[in-house]
Amino acid sequence: MTLCDKCSKKSKFRLNYGPMNFCSEHFNSFFEQRFKKTIRKYNLLKKKDVVVLGVSGGKDSMTALHLLNKFFSKEQTIKALMIDEGIPNYRDKALKLAKKEVKKLGIEFKEISFKERLGKTMIDVMKKTGRKKLVGSTCAFCGPFRRKLLNEGTIELHGTKMATGHNLDDEIQSITMNFFDNDLKRMSGLGPITQGTKQLIQRIKPLYLSPEKEIIAFAELNEINYFKEHCCPFSWQAKRNEFRGMLNQMENKFPGTFYSILSAFENMNPLLKDKFKEENYCQKCGSSSSGKICAACMKLKKLS
Ligand code: SF4
Ligand SMILES: [Zn+2]
Ligand SMILES: [Zn+2]
Repeated sequence: MTLCDKCSKKSKFRLNYGPMNFCSEHFNSFFEQRFKKTIRKYNLLKKKDVVVLGVSGGKDSMTALHLLNKFFSKEQTIKALMIDEGIPNYRDKALKLAKKEVKKLGIEFKEISFKERLGKTMIDVMKKTGRKKLVGSTCAFCGPFRRKLLNEGTIELHGTKMATGHNLDDEIQSITMNFFDNDLKRMSGLGPITQGTKQLIQRIKPLYLSPEKEIIAFAELNEINYFKEHCCPFSWQAKRNEFRGMLNQMENKFPGTFYSILSAFENMNPLLKDKFKEENYCQKCGSSSSGKICAACMKLKKLS
């Protein structure tokens, strides 16, 4: 029987990149400490920050909600923002669950939808992207729209920081995808905290150092309610899935690969930030943008 490395109880969790064996109690405190350490190490929060967390009802945002509320609701204010992309039998159900949990915790929240703000749901988008030449790109439309509305909603909730549930796996996938696409400018915008501009609220990722598998284990252990019935019906199209598979294979074969990629990115990013530091604003909506027109406005134009 393998024992916990911190006490003599039976080990229930083994981290291959450690190696480290934990009983439930020590896994919990390890996970919580890392969450708090991420916030301290990268200076994600200041006293009196109003943190608006994008809550989708999934494991990541529900875990972030639980931990932000547990550790950061005294010196900071935590609020929740829900974006309804209009994906029936998926987001509606997930948001129903999220709303119930947010209300249970007494957290102020706001819900906004693609339909109300952009005039179209993701089903409308899918009908267009389903045409041959746009197949496979539904998520490429959803992402920029979601980011745009998260920013708008955070401003409306008087947020000083916008938090998302992005985890270590998400970040590693984004770094690698941008590298494969030779999009170093976009890569320079990754990391646990963005700089923020006049129009763009600073975005923070408190689960930046937390691997997905451990988030699931933590959520199960702590009985955190999250939507697990099924995935988004469009997720099979995502290019990200290919990268997830490849990177997971590497991590399984060579434990520690994820943290290695992250360290390489962190060493390189100050240089990238310096190279791409000039700021542009979208000529259509005024938000910060890498080109003359921002990604959301460009995608909206494609659909019109
Ligand atoms: S899987 Fe794609 S379409 Fe579905 S919610 Fe995520 S980004 Fe949007
Ligand atoms: Zn223990
Ligand atoms: Zn724009």
